[in-house]
Amino acid sequence: MPIPGRLPGPRYDVPELPEVETVCSGLRPRITGRRIERVDLRRADLRRPFPPGLAARLSGRTVSDVTRRAKYILVGLDDGNVLVIHLGMSGRLHFVDNGSSAGRHDHVIIGFAGGPTLVFNDARRFGLLDLVRRADMAVHPLFEGLGPEPLDPAFDGCALAAALRGRRTPIKTALLDQSVVAGVGNIYACEALFHARLSPRRLAATVIGRRAACLAATIRDVLTEAIAAGGSSLRDYIQVSGELGYFQHSFAVYDREGQPCPGCDCDGRVARIVQSGRSTFYCPRRQR
Ligand SMILES: [Zn+2]
Repeated sequence: MPIPGRLPGPRYDVPELPEVETVCSGLRPRITGRRIERVDLRRADLRRPFPPGLAARLSGRTVSDVTRRAKYILVGLDDGNVLVIHLGMSGRLHFVDNGSSAGRHDHVIIGFAGGPTLVFNDARRFGLLDLVRRADMAVHPLFEGLGPEPLDPAFDGCALAAALRGRRTPIKTALLDQSVVAGVGNIYACEALFHARLSPRRLAATVIGRRAACLAATIRDVLTEAIAAGGSSLRDYIQVSGELGYFQHSFAVYDREGQPCPGCDCDGRVARIVQSGRSTFYCPRRQR
């Protein structure tokens, strides 16, 4: 029985790398090469204040490219700056028709000349907007401590084992550390450990050799599969709602506590434990 006032609706998980990649794929064809005509900042901050003069500094600039680093959307501009967007917990980007009135939690509105209007909506306001010189990105506080991109060929078992060396935390917790690998969050850490048959409680430093190679490959696989699901949902979905980045994706263990363990001969159920304040879903028999 639904609780009045808490209607069941779509679940919005914190965006992770595949969701952010899907947002980038949705943005890229619609804003690349377009000039920013107007910027409406409807408040002065989200997680932290917007950079000074943000609206004026964006106005008149043309978008050169849209890329991603970890969970940051990077909108390159023709003056050598990059508009950095982080969706935080609940941030969403969507396109609206020109002249639409702003809705609740629509905090930033960017209108493109002769093109779409992009809206950043963020009910919980953990999102972030920053403007960074492209040349300074590697040493910028948001980026300098980030580990390798998991889809980069350089991210392999050796790289992962090196990043985990000496770490006395559970492997699940280590995977959420953005200096170990960038962009992996709670959902895909759980999924990758399940498919790699590694216990989330295993000491991170013991993930070496073939175990590390298997885990690195599995992280890449679960992310690649989710990005593919995002891409197909984008094609089906964007025309309907204009919203970017959220898609229906089925998980093996994430948020499936008590359900049968998929594709597993353990005859058991998916278990949930809490590690560093985050829920971990796993199969206690299959994952060692
Ligand atoms: Zn199982």
